[in-house]
Amino acid sequence: MFHSIIDAHIHFDMYKEDERKEILIDMDRYKVEALISVSKDLISAKNNLELYYQDKRVKPAFGFHPEQEIPEEQIIIDLQHFVERHQKEMIAVGEVGLPYYLRQEQPSIPLEPYIVILEAFIKQASALNKPIVLHAVYDDAPIVCSLLEKYSIKKAHFHWFKGDSKTIEQMIQNGYFISITPDVLYEKEIQELVRQYPLTQMMVETDGPWPFEGKFQNQLTHPKMIHPSVNKIANLKKMSEDDVYQLIYKNTKQFYSL
Ligand SMILES: [Zn+2]
Repeated sequence: MFHSIIDAHIHFDMYKEDERKEILIDMDRYKVEALISVSKDLISAKNNLELYYQDKRVKPAFGFHPEQEIPEEQIIIDLQHFVERHQKEMIAVGEVGLPYYLRQEQPSIPLEPYIVILEAFIKQASALNKPIVLHAVYDDAPIVCSLLEKYSIKKAHFHWFKGDSKTIEQMIQNGYFISITPDVLYEKEIQELVRQYPLTQMMVETDGPWPFEGKFQNQLTHPKMIHPSVNKIANLKKMSEDDVYQLIYKNTKQFYSL
């Protein structure tokens, strides 16, 4: 009844044990073929690696999430050593980026140290020839685009992207990918992005366990929520649902070499 899907961005390590079990059991039923599980720090990376050893459908990405305090230098060095050691198991570098939401709350936080960390991971992704998963929205996105260009990064995935038309145009030109969350069902801004962005550079995600609103209010975020997202994307693109499923699935398989 369902077409195959891949959740292109989820924090699977951040679910509770019983929730993870439930999701893994449900994956066959909802035809969720794989989960790209991103990490927020070294502990999260180790947990995601462990989850991969337990179930190979969990594809771990390792990185330092930008929406948190700047750590001591050694923390990032240790994380980069871990990435180096486990590059075979690692599907991508991520989640990395810049702290847009943190700086909305605390504008005095300087951006520079975050740029230094991000650049270190961009360099590493380039050296290891891995895709990179980015958290970069609004004013931060053009900065990240320039950094990616500096290292000639081709495989960049801007998850849950939001930004201005000029940046969107630049991202399309550079061949960068975005992924759409279940808020496409009710957020005008995301619906507009779907209209604008080529489907050939689009994936779908949940960013779970992050919670959603509208018809998903008070529900545990689950990869099955991607099915209504695809339905909505087909609607916005005025395309058949079958074609949208196929194209998004193919994009994700190719982007992450699955
Ligand atoms: Zn995320």
